This record gives sequence, C-alpha cells and structure tokens, in this order.
Amino acid sequence: MTTLFISDLHLAADHPDIGTQFLAFLHGEASRAESLYILGDMFETWVGDDDPNAYYAEMKAAIHALIGRGVPVFFMHGNRDFLIGERFAAETGITILPDPHQIDLYGTDVLLSHGDAMCIDDVAYQQFRTKTRDPKWQAAMLEKPLDERLAFAAQARLQSKQHYAMANKKIMDVNEGAVKETFAKYGADVLLHGHTHRPAVHKLAIGGLQATRIVLGDWYKQGSVLRWDAAGYSLDVLPRL
Ligand code: MN
Repeated sequence: MTTLFISDLHLAADHPDIGTQFLAFLHGEASRAESLYILGDMFETWVGDDDPNAYYAEMKAAIHALIGRGVPVFFMHGNRDFLIGERFAAETGITILPDPHQIDLYGTDVLLSHGDAMCIDDVAYQQFRTKTRDPKWQAAMLEKPLDERLAFAAQARLQSKQHYAMANKKIMDVNEGAVKETFAKYGADVLLHGHTHRPAVHKLAIGGLQATRIVLGDWYKQGSVLRWDAAGYSLDVLPRL
C-alpha cells in the first residue's frame, strides 16, 4: 500500500482544470492508497467553513467520499487555507494536523510541514503570518460578514501577487539555517514540505548525518505527488489529463 502526499493545489473555481485533475486523482490512485496527506494550500483562498461556495462544496464531497471508501485523509494548513476549521473537518472527515507533524513512515522518521514557517528571509510575509495565525485575529475575522471576508481575501491575494512580483526570488525559498534548526529540533530523517513550488529532493548533512528534504510541487500546470511505500519513495509529476 502507498501513502500519498500532495500540497499547493490552489483549487479555485476560476481555474477548473486543477479541480478536474484533483477529482480524478481522488477517484483514481488515492482511492487505492493507504492514506492521503494534503500539506496545505489545497484551496486558493478560504474565508471560513460557512462559505457556501458550490465549487468548494464539490471538492468537500469528493474528499468525504474518499474517506467513506476507507482512505484516511490528513490535512495541514497552508498560508491560503489556514481558516479551515472543525466544521470542515466534520463535513469531510479529514483529520487536521498541526504544523509541523512527525510521522513514522515504513520505518523512516518524517517531519511534515507546509513550509512557509521556514521562509524567514521574507520578513513582510512572516509578519503577515504571525498576525493571521493568531487565534484572536482568526476569531475576529470569522465574525465578520462573509462579503467582508471575501473582500479581505481578494485584497490579500492581490497584495501577495504584487509582493511576489517585486521581491527577490531567493527570499521566497526556505532559509537554510531554518531548515537545519528544524532538523536539529525534531531529529527527523526526512523533512517533507510544499509552499515554495520548487519540487525537488535535496540531500544534506546535518551534524554528520545524512538528511533529506523533499519539496512537493504545485498543481497550477500539472499535478505533483510524493508516493511512498515500504520499498521507498518517488516524487512524481501528474500530467494534466
Ligand atoms: Mn503556501
């Protein structure tokens, strides 16, 4: 049996080919998997579990159906969908994981993360992250009317686009020191994350020991999946149908 990892789908009604591929993935190999982990930014924006968005409802129903077929689905918040909450979990059946979260995968010690917390060179983003991950800020946001929240999300998305167009590309990647600190703190063999949209397998030495950092890709133009079973792992592209 295979454990599957994906992230950074950025599902949105105005980009329907991503959702089509995601639904095919859920009906296809995910339904034969041991479990599925979605490591953040499943949705392009998420303004609260009470959003009646029909497109998102279709995605929720498909996840619920997969779990109904006996495949556990785990979810970790990204920087776009950090407002996914308990109602979403109850409606779909997913288990929400803290970031980071450590698992034993066929005998390998793997630390899962969305990845944005290690992008410490992007100071403006880290300030936004600190503000928006504060439970008080989140509670206040969720009390606002839906149209206000949607307007905030649209504005945040626009500002983020401008920020990423202007900023030095290097600060968008994880910081090497932050990666080393994370390995040192958790003592994992493998660190697996998304967020940077730079799919790769990096080998590095941590305190004389070999460690591996695996980065999942985004789903903008094609899918990206890490398949892991007792024989090992492979980071693969999922071509658009
Ligand atoms: Mn992200």
